[in-house]
Amino acid sequence: MNWLNGKRQTTNAFLLYSCAPWKVATGIAVSISLVTATSAWSQPVPGSLDAHWNEGASDCKATPQAPLQVHAYEPQTFILRQSPCASFEANFLYLLIGSDKALLIDTGAIADPKEMPLAKTILELLPDKDHKKLPLLVAHTHRHLDHRAGDPQFASLPSVQIVPIDLEGVRAFYGFTDWPNGIAHLDLGGRTVDVIPTPGHNATHVAFYDNRTTILFSGDFLMPGRLLIDDAAAYRESALTGCRLSEDASAYPYPGGHIELNAAGHPYRFGSHYHPNEHRLELAREDLAALPAAFESFNGFYARHPNYILTNPIRNLIALAIIAVAVLIFIVWGVRRLLRRRRRQHG
Ligand SMILES: [Zn+2]
Ligand SMILES: [Zn+2]
Repeated sequence: MNWLNGKRQTTNAFLLYSCAPWKVATGIAVSISLVTATSAWSQPVPGSLDAHWNEGASDCKATPQAPLQVHAYEPQTFILRQSPCASFEANFLYLLIGSDKALLIDTGAIADPKEMPLAKTILELLPDKDHKKLPLLVAHTHRHLDHRAGDPQFASLPSVQIVPIDLEGVRAFYGFTDWPNGIAHLDLGGRTVDVIPTPGHNATHVAFYDNRTTILFSGDFLMPGRLLIDDAAAYRESALTGCRLSEDASAYPYPGGHIELNAAGHPYRFGSHYHPNEHRLELAREDLAALPAAFESFNGFYARHPNYILTNPIRNLIALAIIAVAVLIFIVWGVRRLLRRRRRQHG
């Protein structure tokens, strides 16, 4: 099934019950746009997410481990996980192979090929076509460094194209004329990948929907971890858009850029190289469906949900700074008061 054809039409909020229950509850009838799905339907190619991802170690020096784990979801879809020991970000990268072209989603947190042999690994996974490696497109969910640090490893390779990282470059490359509206399509040959703008965590964020597997590669927009909010209004809109789209198509599952929670939903300490008992990688449609309402009730600082945490790091820093200044003022005031009282007693 081709999920999206880029056309928009209006529909009524009642249809969107699971995306925005708060709208139905208040009885407000609103019209929103919805991208229509095409009627052509075919069975998704099945695959396996049954993998034990490298969990790093409490002492990485004492327990050396492979920097990159490769898991074949199915013969033409690979999931790569950077070891938490190699980088605490422990990014997940995805390689999608079509008959004419391959797509790499993100290049991870490490530039040095000696530390992280990413390009070498990807080239080994790429099949040959006409006695040459299949052409490769290197794309990013967004421009944060942990999703593109490996780009230079691909820069000088033949038949490799790298999508620019700045917003202007992203828009131009995919041909978006009304960002963040619209959907772009990548034709890999017998396999179409839709590029869906999802700004909010970062202004350049996009998600990728693969029509072969019906997987939505959601990056840092939706993952079992801290959903860091840069622009809350944009994020909420992206959540609504993503939710509507997922209702309109058989999108499943939703693997993201990181795992930052354990199986019980508790976050690992920020910067930890050890992830014992990790949460599963993929989130479900229900998690995406709950996201708009999560934004609706968000206090602007921090909110725990079963499979993700909403947090605004800049706001939290500002709040901490205000608290620190207030505490300092209180201490200075207290000390001055004490000195004054002593002076009075001695005088
Ligand atoms: Zn990010
Ligand atoms: Zn990230």
